[in-house]
Amino acid sequence: MSVDLPVHAFMQCDLLECAPSMSVREAAARMHDAHCGSILIVDAGKPVGIWTETDVLAGAWRSVNDLEQPVSAFMSAPVKSIAAQATLGEVARSFRLAGVRHFLVNDSQGSPLGIISQTDVVCNQAAEFFLPANSVASLVPGDPVCVDANTSFNDVRQLMRNLNIDAVVIRSGQGYGIITMRDVVGALGAKKLTASAGELASFPLLTIRRDATLFQARSLFSRNRIRHLGVIDDQQVLVGLLTFRDLFENIEHAYVDSLLPALELKTEKLLQTQRELVRQASLTEAVLNALPINVFVKDEAGRLIIANEMTAQTIGRPLAEIIGKCDAEMFPAEIAGPMIDDDAKVRSSNQTLIREELLADGRTLLGQKRMIQVEGAPLLLGASMDVTKWKRVDALMVSDHHVLELIAGGSDLPVILEALCRRMEIHLPGALCSILLLADDGVLRLGAAPNLPPEYLQVAEAASVGPADRSYGADVFFGEQVLFKDIASSSLWTSHADLARRCGLNACWPTPFFSAARQLLGVFAIYYTQTKHPDDNDLTVIGHATRLASVAVERWQQISELKRLATTDQLTELSNRAHFMESAEAELRRSCRFKRDLAVLMIDLDFFKRVNDRYGHAAGDEALRVFSRVLISETRAFDLLGRIGGEEFSVVLTETGSEVSLQIAERLRRAVELTSFVFQDSGPISFTVSIGVALLQAGDSLDSLLARADDALYRAKHAGRNRVECG
Ligand code: GH3
Ligand code: MG
Ligand code: MG
Repeated sequence: MSVDLPVHAFMQCDLLECAPSMSVREAAARMHDAHCGSILIVDAGKPVGIWTETDVLAGAWRSVNDLEQPVSAFMSAPVKSIAAQATLGEVARSFRLAGVRHFLVNDSQGSPLGIISQTDVVCNQAAEFFLPANSVASLVPGDPVCVDANTSFNDVRQLMRNLNIDAVVIRSGQGYGIITMRDVVGALGAKKLTASAGELASFPLLTIRRDATLFQARSLFSRNRIRHLGVIDDQQVLVGLLTFRDLFENIEHAYVDSLLPALELKTEKLLQTQRELVRQASLTEAVLNALPINVFVKDEAGRLIIANEMTAQTIGRPLAEIIGKCDAEMFPAEIAGPMIDDDAKVRSSNQTLIREELLADGRTLLGQKRMIQVEGAPLLLGASMDVTKWKRVDALMVSDHHVLELIAGGSDLPVILEALCRRMEIHLPGALCSILLLADDGVLRLGAAPNLPPEYLQVAEAASVGPADRSYGADVFFGEQVLFKDIASSSLWTSHADLARRCGLNACWPTPFFSAARQLLGVFAIYYTQTKHPDDNDLTVIGHATRLASVAVERWQQISELKRLATTDQLTELSNRAHFMESAEAELRRSCRFKRDLAVLMIDLDFFKRVNDRYGHAAGDEALRVFSRVLISETRAFDLLGRIGGEEFSVVLTETGSEVSLQIAERLRRAVELTSFVFQDSGPISFTVSIGVALLQAGDSLDSLLARADDALYRAKHAGRNRVECG
């Protein structure tokens, strides 16, 4: 297996280029300034040749005029090139075979990408593997080529060409200097064709001890950007010239022998790392795709560079289609606009933005956007999740809370039920809600239906429990929810179907609701103008509504019962003393305020003790009940009746003057006198009452009024009983 690193990892990307018409002088000056060993000749965008330091050496630059000739006349053509994928080992071998120091690096289409030189190979490749092991002495071929400072530039150039060397040591009074190919190029660029070697040479010649390592030599080469070093012995005598090429050839040799296995190891490690990276990437991708939230990353241009499957699903397009797209390409302007605005806000403020977003299909997303820096690039990270269900539950809880507050606050049942209907209509868009309550007589009566057509309600209010021909009745009869997705096609709606249709109602989902003891309390019904079957959300709402209706109705029933118990006398079911006094007080205040008549009767059963004694206490109780019924029948619905003691009763006759109150009292006395009842096998039992009447006078309190009625009663007793007296 050939394992090696590709050449494009080491090449120089900043190509030095010139047109074919550029003069030799200018091209040389450019190379010199750029510290470049070559210049690419490009014509109409295509490399047509290369002019290198070696070419500079080979030229016959007799006069300055020669230097004004176009560089294309001296370039090497065609350009020796190598593919970007070629390995460094291949480049090293190709340098040797082609006898050149530079290659143009081409991409697969043949377009130039850069230049690779021997220097690049040596400087960049892992020469550390062996350079430390060898000393400079191992490479020094022998005495350096050395000329005097007064040698002509032309002679120096010829010498270098003939001996195929790239540098000459210059000996002068000030010590050793050096002329390299780079100096030759520089002289050309500066038109110094007649200068002497001493004038062109660089002084002093940098040196290295012969026992130094090649690694140290390479460091000196790199640090000083030079390619030659004088080699000196212990006595500081110049014993040779170490060239960069020597170093390179040595490395090349060692490369084949020893570097390759090292590189193989290195490459294997690289492949392992790559495999690990791939594993990590697929793990990350799998995790991202398994997340029940949308995750995406946008680049600086707002394009999606990462998105998970959930994001693709939310957008409604395959993942492959959305990667690389920006919002404006994926959404209509009215949706993309706010998203783009949000992105801009996050980018400019660098702060996290949390936003709830309502999608066109009614879903709600809760999203967060923030900036992240990845290798210096500012990226926008977004995450959002579908919170529609939670929002619904939340909203339902708010409704529950509202209705429960009304219940706990003691609101009237119709108020609570109407609020319940309206609340549920919010959660079920398009729905019309109603609540019917099962009355004692087995008839469903309207509890609330704020938005149903009145025409329809008139009928619904009189619905009775049963399976046939009754919309509400059916479910109550079956004791479970009966859904009418389409009223028109239901056999249970035969006669009401027309009415429903006339009222524009086409679907009905009635659900009975029950007390904790499973007693039917009523029906919660949802109507729709379109035919419709409930979905999960609808059923959840119905569940909430029926539970709330049950609580409201049951609690209302309990409170009503408690109220009844607290205010009525259990035996006679008339108001008890406390409630009678309270009502009488209120009535008295009203009469005083409106200056209306008011009369009070105090009634006591005559010789009641005897009834008890003769017929027993139970018969006495029955007598009290019989009297109550007579009392109710002989007074008016708006009169207040109360049992205020054992066999004592009181009546407030509202808006009643003396004449009428006496008439009523007399009529009552008479009616009692004429009434008899039988208790078990007792034979007819009858009794009489004495009645005291008092009329409201200015400045009266309830006490003073009752006291006068009591006085009158007392007089009636004393006058022989079974009488009416007025106080
Ligand atoms: P008078 O004509 O003077 O009012 O004579 P009376 O016997 O009606 O009066 P008295 O005050 O002597 O007796 C009242 C009786 O009413 C005594 C009591 O046992 C009876 N009584 C009071 N409450 C009840 C009740 O709830 N049921 C029954 N059966 N008897 C009651
Ligand atoms: Mg009494
Ligand atoms: Mg009595």
